[in-house]
Amino acid sequence: MDLLTYCKRLPKIELHAHLTGSLSDATVLQLLEVKREQLGEHHLPDSAEVTIRQGHNRSLEECFKVFGILHYLSDSLEAVENITRNVIQEFAADNVWYLELRTTPKHIPGKMTKKQYMDTVLKVVRSEMEHNKITVRLLLSVDRSRGVEDAHTTLALAKHYRVSTEYKDLVCGLDVSGNPHVGSLLDYIPVLEEAKKCGLKLAVHLAEVPNEDEVQAILNAGLVDRIGHGTFLHPGSGGTQDHLTVVRNKLIPLEICLSSNVKSGTVKTVEQHHFARWKELKHPLIICTDDKGVFCTTLSEEYYLCAKTFSLPEEDIQDLCLQAVEATFMNQKEKTILRQTVQNELKSLQGKLLM
Ligand code: 5GP
Repeated sequence: MDLLTYCKRLPKIELHAHLTGSLSDATVLQLLEVKREQLGEHHLPDSAEVTIRQGHNRSLEECFKVFGILHYLSDSLEAVENITRNVIQEFAADNVWYLELRTTPKHIPGKMTKKQYMDTVLKVVRSEMEHNKITVRLLLSVDRSRGVEDAHTTLALAKHYRVSTEYKDLVCGLDVSGNPHVGSLLDYIPVLEEAKKCGLKLAVHLAEVPNEDEVQAILNAGLVDRIGHGTFLHPGSGGTQDHLTVVRNKLIPLEICLSSNVKSGTVKTVEQHHFARWKELKHPLIICTDDKGVFCTTLSEEYYLCAKTFSLPEEDIQDLCLQAVEATFMNQKEKTILRQTVQNELKSLQGKLLM
């Protein structure tokens, strides 16, 4: 098998995927069509505005404008239902066996409450798990640009699901994301503390852009279960030895999003990505897409890009799949089952990669 085919065949685990950023071109076109029928041609973005084609880049700030457009296009419960269904089916078609999807609960006056938004997402997750070979779990995203009060309402919703009979098995934690240039993570520490007390797992976007004080405070608080990006943590990539030591000692996995970082310009080239430095340290690293729609990628392509750029032998590629299993927010019993099935599949692939 050639490398790309091999990466497609790998039993993959996706742990860092934002729902709205994962919309494929086909889904964006569907949403545009619905808006066109409602509003006519005026003021509609064309689909090229919302994805990044091969070879094109967009700054992080520009990406946040794109998210704004995507939110506008998916501002009805019907749209939320469709996007959730499409995204799960696309991950399943890419041979993703386990998906931790994250999304920001949205309150749009007159259209949906945060609870209606999440109920809709969860209902689709439940039904898609019945029809596809994929297990899905949800992280509720706290958007750091929306303020602490908003974060508390998201936390309250996550707590509600944790004790609900209907969805407690599907909601596993919180994500903290949003524009890293807006607000301060320090303000969110009480929210994270409370979340942790309630048994919620925490994935936090950290050091996505240089911000030493924030990194220091969040690491000192000792609350984070996985780090999103961690671009400016390692002293070789603009971080400090102290940060490196804490993250290494606690073995906090890093969610690695190669295309996202390079296309949004926080990392210059894939070759210069911090993946290489952390891999040298044998640190737990998880290959993820971040926003497969906005960055025009798939998880298979991210594995391919990683394996090709860093000349990974088959054993290391397979090990990335297993590291991802260990970093999931599943309970131990579920993890044991997933590990076993992934290991069996990896065994059946062994030796089939033509290097
Ligand atoms: P949603 O939560 O609406 O399903 O997904 C889109 C949202 O995810 C964005 O508005 C943003 O808050 C967050 N997001 C997506 N990609 C990134 C990223 O690369 N960095 C950060 N910090 N946030 C992101």
